[in-house]
Amino acid sequence: MIIKIVLNPKAVLHRATPLTTDKDWALEDRLFVLNVQNIDGIKRIFTERGIPYQDTTTSVVTQDPNNNVIVLTHNLNPVSEQHPAPGARNKLDQQQRRKKIGVLTSGGDASGMNACVRSVVLYGISKGCDVYAVYEGYQGLVDGGDYIRKMDWRSVTGYLSIGGTSIGTARCMAFKTREGRLLAAQNLIKNGIDSLIVCGGDGSLTGADVFRSEWSGLVSELLKADRITKEEASIFKHLTIVGLVGSIDNDMSSTDITIGAVTSLHRICEAVDSVDTTALSHSRAFVIEVMGRHCGWLALMAGIATGADFVFIPERPPSEEDWETAMCKVARRHRELGKRKTIIIVAEGALDRNLKAIKVDHIKDILCDRLGLDTRVTILGHTQRGGSPCAFDRILGTVQSVAAVDAVLASTPDKPSPMIGMNNNQVTTKPLMDAVKLTHEGAAAIESRNFDRALELRDPQFLDELKVFNVATILDDNSIYLPEHQQLTIAILHIGAPAGGMNSATRTAVRYALNRGHTVYGVANGFSGLVRGCFEKLDWMGVDGWTTCGGSLLGTNRAVPGKDVDMGMVAFQLQKYEIQALMLVGGFEAYASLVELDKVRSEYPSLCIPISLIPATVSNNVPGTDFSLGCDTSLNVIVAASDAIVQSAQSSRRRVFVIEVQGGRSGFLAVEGGLAVGACAIYIPEEGIHLPRLQGDVQFLKGLYDTDNPEKSEGRVILRTEGVSNTYTTEVISEILEDEGGARFDSRTAVLGHIQQGNTPSPLDRIRASRLAIHSIEFFEKHTCDALDHAQSICEEAPLELCTNDDSIAVIGLCGVEVHARSIKELLPGTDMKNRKAQEDWWQRDRSLVDILSGRSYFSSIE
Ligand code: ADP
Repeated sequence: MIIKIVLNPKAVLHRATPLTTDKDWALEDRLFVLNVQNIDGIKRIFTERGIPYQDTTTSVVTQDPNNNVIVLTHNLNPVSEQHPAPGARNKLDQQQRRKKIGVLTSGGDASGMNACVRSVVLYGISKGCDVYAVYEGYQGLVDGGDYIRKMDWRSVTGYLSIGGTSIGTARCMAFKTREGRLLAAQNLIKNGIDSLIVCGGDGSLTGADVFRSEWSGLVSELLKADRITKEEASIFKHLTIVGLVGSIDNDMSSTDITIGAVTSLHRICEAVDSVDTTALSHSRAFVIEVMGRHCGWLALMAGIATGADFVFIPERPPSEEDWETAMCKVARRHRELGKRKTIIIVAEGALDRNLKAIKVDHIKDILCDRLGLDTRVTILGHTQRGGSPCAFDRILGTVQSVAAVDAVLASTPDKPSPMIGMNNNQVTTKPLMDAVKLTHEGAAAIESRNFDRALELRDPQFLDELKVFNVATILDDNSIYLPEHQQLTIAILHIGAPAGGMNSATRTAVRYALNRGHTVYGVANGFSGLVRGCFEKLDWMGVDGWTTCGGSLLGTNRAVPGKDVDMGMVAFQLQKYEIQALMLVGGFEAYASLVELDKVRSEYPSLCIPISLIPATVSNNVPGTDFSLGCDTSLNVIVAASDAIVQSAQSSRRRVFVIEVQGGRSGFLAVEGGLAVGACAIYIPEEGIHLPRLQGDVQFLKGLYDTDNPEKSEGRVILRTEGVSNTYTTEVISEILEDEGGARFDSRTAVLGHIQQGNTPSPLDRIRASRLAIHSIEFFEKHTCDALDHAQSICEEAPLELCTNDDSIAVIGLCGVEVHARSIKELLPGTDMKNRKAQEDWWQRDRSLVDILSGRSYFSSIE
């Protein structure tokens, strides 16, 4: 590698003597500023060759043999306002403008905190900030010294896959005192840090806000006591604080989900799934206590995701004074229906109506004494905190932290401290103290037995999820039966490739439908089974255990009616079995089926029934939903596989893996998977692959490997969507990289293939499936109710033609956290039928982040 800089001799200013090292060279009046990409590579070469330089993270300042000052900067615009070139302003001004961000994790650890730290560091550096990690939470801030360390691009290598927090967390009593906070302020100022990003629970965020509200008083006190200089007091007049909510409890108001909660749910579901098999073998009951402090989110979600028989949560105590009897009734009914196991999930903060704690041992005694069940207690404890973060938390931590850095850069002294949240699948910024206040209000509402208010203060879908659990599980006592004339005959079929959650959706739909008095047929093998009359009545026990099963237990098939199978035969079979509502669970073929059925409805009266589609495909390409069932399971498979591949690549030294992921013509898995695993490049069908792009990637990789520590090379992965190019196959790309990499790096491939459909559906897929199933049955009822009531009023049989309106044939999908039914007529104009996807993809907003966080603009060959 050679760096050759030739200056125009006329422009050269000869200085008699070189500048001494005690001076800031960048403050010279005349500088030669050169825009370069690989600052780290330049530093390494300068160090190797003993060339003196001064380092400002985004720039290197050196002197040429004529003692001219040369600034090499990787800021795209070296003289831009946001990232002023060194020397462009006086020192004080510069220090005020160049953000020095501290990041700390505090309170209880949560998986995904590392994703936050990584993202703050990388995105912060890419924005021209200096980023410092404060180790051991507020304790590190109070103690200062080595607890506050400047981070560089490599400091956070490998962070994404590590659970907990690698910079440590602590509960710090000193920070609760003013003297402690005074020390913390002094340490921040002495390190030049003017902004703090705190990732923690409501306690940590309360502490952060107290700190900011006191800041000017703390600065005055430090100045008065001569602990800081006048200049420092003037530079650090304001402190910027941004909060990220890291907590497994999901107990923070104003955000739908907190970082770490979903990983914790993964651990709980793994444990309950394991307990399930032993319970089944011995016909036992298990009472399982889960964490969550005053919040029942983990318990309720685990209850839905594992098909538990009963859950106890603080926000909704059992309505009966004698809850023991109510619980026993449910457990007994389920046993009488044929269940061999009983699973009760109890939140650690569970209460009865009188605020008396509901304890697992008491429940155990009741089940033993009253029902004679062989009952065991399992307290999951700290296993719930640990382990590698799931895909969701890695992505959540990453995108929220990017927003946190942006909030730091946009902050002004008059703005209240923001908290970064997630609302309706959008990253949001809300006043931190409002969120903390509402969170405390939730706890107070429980204490004052205002349970409705407590529920209101939870995330918006909590109430819906509680209903999902109740109507599908405990209200199997005829209490929600519809009048006989409104009871329907429903058919369910699976279409397309298997996807995690198809069975969960079917199980919940069947259970709820039966609780409403409906009759349900399962149709084997999609429409090709339907035309052959493969209908089988599904009963309560027939779908037992389906929640946790991957694949499609009904059997699935890609046939589309009117194309692959005869439409007349479809209509005939529906008429023969007197089907009054049709529920499809599947991917784009199911969507295409909906389109075909919609076209011919006027020709076939038996198709004039409500028809719903629950999107289920790993590709997440069905219009009308943000997430299809199976895509979260698939992301988690990609994450687990990529972690293993990265480990292999790391061990082999200097190896990049090209991993092929599924997705058809949709780049969803590559983009979101790329964020979750920290891919250094992704290839997606929406962009295609072209030679200049490949050349750029080769240069980028060369730059990365050039600046690696030769003894400690990183394992690197590239994700390529299977359908991106016929020419640049996974093998071809890998061979190009191998050839071009020369002695720097080699390349291998990994094609993940069908394992991406997953074995066991992820908790999120199971929960989404259950919600969509309940809404689907409600959709059927809504669209048949009038016709059935009318027939009843004139003493007639239910008509064959139940509904014809456009709204009655729809995709039941997730719009953020809300469930919406969107008719095929509404969706078609926004559908790209050729590429089998919606014309707009919400996840494209994350695309550029993959490149920014891979260091694409930071590293590149300087050959
Ligand atoms: P979490 O952030 O998970 O809710 P804690 O409630 O234990 O955990 O808070 C973590 C830390 O935040 C505490 O150890 C303390 O250092 C700091 N903290 C909490 N509340 C305050 C407060 N009111 N004032 C100052 N610091 C606080």
